[in-house]
Amino acid sequence: MSSILKGAADTAALQHYINGEFVASVSDRSAPVFNPSTGQVSATVPLASTAEVDRAVEAAYAAFPAWAETSPLKRSRVMFKFKELLEKHRDELAAIIVREHGKVFSDAQGEVTRGLEVVEFACGIPQLLKGEFTEQVAGGIDAWTIRQPLGVCAGITPFNFPVMVPMWMIPMAIACGNTFVLKPSERDPSASLLIADLLTQAGLPKGVFNVVHGDKEAVDALLNNPKVEAISFVGSTPIAQYIYGTGTAQGKRVQALGGAKNHMVVMPDADLDVTVDALMGAAYGSAGERCMAISVAVAVGDIADKLVAMLAERTRALVIDQGMNPKAEMGPLVTGVHRDKVVGYIDAGVAEGAELVVDGRGISVAGLENGFFVGGTLFDHVKRDMKIYKEEIFGPVLAVVRVPDFATALDLINDNEFGNGVAIFTRDGGTAREFGHRVKVGMVGINVPIPVPMAFHSFGGWKRSLFGDHHAHGPESVRFYTRHKALTQRWPTVRSGAEFAMPTMK
Ligand code: NAD
Repeated sequence: MSSILKGAADTAALQHYINGEFVASVSDRSAPVFNPSTGQVSATVPLASTAEVDRAVEAAYAAFPAWAETSPLKRSRVMFKFKELLEKHRDELAAIIVREHGKVFSDAQGEVTRGLEVVEFACGIPQLLKGEFTEQVAGGIDAWTIRQPLGVCAGITPFNFPVMVPMWMIPMAIACGNTFVLKPSERDPSASLLIADLLTQAGLPKGVFNVVHGDKEAVDALLNNPKVEAISFVGSTPIAQYIYGTGTAQGKRVQALGGAKNHMVVMPDADLDVTVDALMGAAYGSAGERCMAISVAVAVGDIADKLVAMLAERTRALVIDQGMNPKAEMGPLVTGVHRDKVVGYIDAGVAEGAELVVDGRGISVAGLENGFFVGGTLFDHVKRDMKIYKEEIFGPVLAVVRVPDFATALDLINDNEFGNGVAIFTRDGGTAREFGHRVKVGMVGINVPIPVPMAFHSFGGWKRSLFGDHHAHGPESVRFYTRHKALTQRWPTVRSGAEFAMPTMK
């Protein structure tokens, strides 16, 4: 395992995983992978050439016929074994996430668990693939439907969940009988190599799962390869739109999940202690680098002053450190470039006239002065035309927008270009129901701050937070990763002469 997983001081090049083997890259391009807590380079990731990606696709293409013919029960047994191995290696995976992403260890453990739950769902694939059957649709004729795998599927994933998001895709695609090529984020690529190793240990035949590291060149190679039948993408909105447009123009099936700007409506009757606890975790957990993070608190009516005062006190007290400190509540941002971008947004908020209540710029963590840390940041009196309201910051920055009433809060959210997640905190059932009914957002929490659906439901946003027809994991993923076929049969065959009219039931 040590050759796969580099130690903190090891800057040796990571490898691709193609056709059941770790292979050194032959590309002349690479990128550094940082330990965000120290700011040091922890590994070097190759950026695959088109030829390397094509090799991985060829391996997956060659493995497809035999894997598609393997019975769903046998495929599910590989998933059961994979689940056991993931449980055994849960902390090892979580430690890799901490080292390359920076989130705190308990959060990384939670991420692995949420990925593992998709494997648990995939274990039920024999049941999930069952079709429908109607006996006697007409005299002596039966009809049924089946779902068959597509072929080679590809996954392109973001940095913020280097285990969970790939696991939204891999178990379901493979359990449905497809083969898979993963292009993980080049910012935290190591976890995907351990996943590949565990899948092989679980008995997955070679070529069924492959990992190629890379950037735009690798992504474009997947988009342009005619042997790739379907692409699952998760990342920022401009790239999601590009992947969806380019992939579908080439006749591929594409689901592309994009960015977010998630609001939490705080009604005047909300329990403020409960609400502030929820907001702290939802805004600052994982340093705000979650597509379901709450980045806008919409304070309705006269609750705003008290809400801001309570949030300010808690935000100033956040424990910020490297993720393996069990007391840490928030770690660093993923790279220095991203840290500078987030700081740029805070500068912009000040310049536009929002009230900076807690300033996270310029914090320093003792012994980790070169880490990519930004402290919890709180803005009040944010207006809807400000850049810090309109754009996804993806950092520990919470904006409070004050509105006079529920209707204005709802309009604000429904006018926003994103529609990933949303929450309302209230003690009034009627308001909660009205909100759930009218809000134009894909995932809604009622007194729940981050309403991420469980593995057996599906995950996805509306508007510019998702391009495509299918959400991730759950029942929607079975539809995405399979093709529907309808069969009609007559036995025994009896000669009744040619019929030229549209057949109708007899
Ligand atoms: P990103 O869009 O920069 O990168 C995502 C993937 O696309 C990576 O694998 C990357 O290598 C690739 N990529 C980057 N630029 C590309 C280009 N020009 N052409 C082709 N491919 C390219 O996203 P990120 O910074 O890694 O992740 C954060 C973003 O992901 C945020 O916007 C966040 O909201 C979003 N996200 C969304 C969800 C969701 O479910 N909707 C979940 C997690 C993250």
